[in-house]
Amino acid sequence: MTLRIERIPTLSDNYTYLLICGETGEAAIVDAPEAEPVIRRVDASGARVTKILSTHHHPDHTMANPELAKRYCVPVYGHVSDRERLAGFSDGLEEGDSVTVGRHLARVLFIPGHTRGHIAYVFEQDGALFSGDTMFAGGCGRLFEGTPEMMFAAFQKLAALPDDTRVYCGHEYTESNLVFAAHIEPDHVAIRDRLARVRAKRAHRAADWHDATPEEMTVPSTLAEEHATNPFLRAADAAEFGRRRALKDSFRG
Ligand code: ZN
Ligand code: FE
Repeated sequence: MTLRIERIPTLSDNYTYLLICGETGEAAIVDAPEAEPVIRRVDASGARVTKILSTHHHPDHTMANPELAKRYCVPVYGHVSDRERLAGFSDGLEEGDSVTVGRHLARVLFIPGHTRGHIAYVFEQDGALFSGDTMFAGGCGRLFEGTPEMMFAAFQKLAALPDDTRVYCGHEYTESNLVFAAHIEPDHVAIRDRLARVRAKRAHRAADWHDATPEEMTVPSTLAEEHATNPFLRAADAAEFGRRRALKDSFRG
């Protein structure tokens, strides 16, 4: 069983994902702010789109939902509480629900904090987590609608997944996240090593993110890497998590 995961660079640093069931050719689009790059990738892949999965309501993850839903005649999933504000919304999900992409099953985790209706999609058999703007490679999303306690709890939930889970997040923010990580934990060798690796990857990047190739993408990481180097996963409790998030908000690398 194979779940093919294509990374589509959208806007200026967003990731849209196209998930294709290797057995049936059915596909899902995760977080789509722009239609055109997605349509091009769908056409090239020969996949048959059957649903759109949104992690949260922010426009940079949902703006193209209505156009894509209409084009492919498919439902748009999001957290049930975002019914009124998530572009193109049709089907509500809650913690513990599952959705399928062909023969592949994702479990829904409710992980509020960045927004109050944020969810993650976890394909356990395939070892893939779609974490939106909650857990980034080397960092975490801003607390727009939640408290440090909520986001800390969300991180604990994700942290419990297997170490080899690949983390597909919503933005290519890894380098600046690790600059911050190295700033607050200057003696941590694993962070410094990861920052060096990420910088090397990002050194020869396309002028336009839309033209990015896999060589310059630092996503996905693995949960093991995040355990070792993500300062928010390394926070001992919600208070420390909150202090680190507040520092990051005002940090100018
Ligand atoms: Zn967001
Ligand atoms: Fe975002």
